[in-house]
Amino acid sequence: MGETKDIFLEKSKIKVNDSKHRKTIAFNIDKYNAAVINGKHQYAELEIARKRAKNIKWKAIEELDKNLENFEKKFSEHGGKVIWAEDAEEALAAIAEICERAKAKTIVKSKSMVTEEIHLNAFLEKMGIESVETDLGEYIQQLDGEPPYHIVTPAMHKSKEDIATLFHEKLGTAPNLSPKELTLIAREKLRSKFLTADVGITGGNFIIADSGAISITENEGNGRLTTSLPKIHIAIVGIEKVIPSLKDIAHFWPLLSTFGTGQKLTVYNTLFFGPRTTNELDGPEEMYVILLDNGRTNLLRSEVRESMYCIRCGSCLNACPVYKNIGGHSYGTTYSGPIGAVITPHLTSMQENGHLSFASSLCGNCTEVCPVKINIHEMLLENRSIYVDEGHSEMKEKIGWKLFKAGVSYRPLMNLASSNIKNKVFDKLFAPMWGDSREVPVFPKKSFAKLWKEHQKSSKD
Ligand code: SF4
Repeated sequence: MGETKDIFLEKSKIKVNDSKHRKTIAFNIDKYNAAVINGKHQYAELEIARKRAKNIKWKAIEELDKNLENFEKKFSEHGGKVIWAEDAEEALAAIAEICERAKAKTIVKSKSMVTEEIHLNAFLEKMGIESVETDLGEYIQQLDGEPPYHIVTPAMHKSKEDIATLFHEKLGTAPNLSPKELTLIAREKLRSKFLTADVGITGGNFIIADSGAISITENEGNGRLTTSLPKIHIAIVGIEKVIPSLKDIAHFWPLLSTFGTGQKLTVYNTLFFGPRTTNELDGPEEMYVILLDNGRTNLLRSEVRESMYCIRCGSCLNACPVYKNIGGHSYGTTYSGPIGAVITPHLTSMQENGHLSFASSLCGNCTEVCPVKINIHEMLLENRSIYVDEGHSEMKEKIGWKLFKAGVSYRPLMNLASSNIKNKVFDKLFAPMWGDSREVPVFPKKSFAKLWKEHQKSSKD
């Protein structure tokens, strides 16, 4: 215990003082905010739409077992194969088996946080398979050797100048290319990969139970190329992504795009029912869906079950004052920001990542902006409570709070300690957490109680 927390604090401290990072993030989030205001105008009753989304997801998660089994039955009827993976190892083993059978040399991938969660690229690299990210943001991050910074916009922390420099260094392009020129270069590089890849790997935005379909939402068309050109398509999806019916998709597609990017509808929304059928001209010959647990059933039985309603729109990250200051990479986890801080301790361990739930001002902005009305800030409090109950807090913190509790609950004790003693205790216990850039508060010589007594006495005299 303590190592991940120390790294988190160290990285956060560096980022908070990095004015270039703050400027880039502020610029990109301002653009996002403006787009979302616009996108929301398509709703006459946004509150009702959010409540409805929450109800649908509640129903989906309450009947998770039934919904997933229905999905498997239908998807298998369409000729697809469902693989149940309890953890990352099982998912990776299944992917390895399919790739080995296909003698795969190159894989194209569309954006997927679940594949980040199971560290798929590193695994494929060890197998000697080239895995190419085809979403532009992910492609940029892969080129830079960095994990995604944000669950929706992976390269949000990079300015267009940063990306031009990266392309110049890694691909030998001219420096200072425009965003359009950079996009064309990525397009050209990726086109040949699509044409030669043996397997296409995607995530999935929704698992549609009654129809046995997977829904994928994307803006660049790379998802469609990933799933239509290679002979094999593997979709790896967290089990919480389930929705009961195809009818519900009409509700979730606009909601995801509005809160994710401010668009009325994302450019490409595709439903995959299985591999290519005899009457179809394109599509894969084989299609697999890996249903990944990897700690999600811990969420199901926890006090924060509601976090499974998340549709990964990224809105709570953009709204979080802590995320905006420390950035996505400081968290050191696949899922960052408020929702990451809620789910990660349950997906991994409370001991290792419970400290993330304290990285919040509890302003409630995350809850305010969530399209499925998840009570995120209340769940951060739940996690804090579990963290303390399980005994993960540090000794000095425990002593600090005990002293604080004793002091503030008994006035004479507070009066007894001189301002000198109070200043020393505060300096010892709290000053290190206060940060270098803030002045530690100084207790005045006379407390309010003492001043009040003097005031009362002088008014009687
Ligand atoms: S918790 Fe809500 S706001 Fe945050 S990513 Fe999930 S759906 Fe979006």
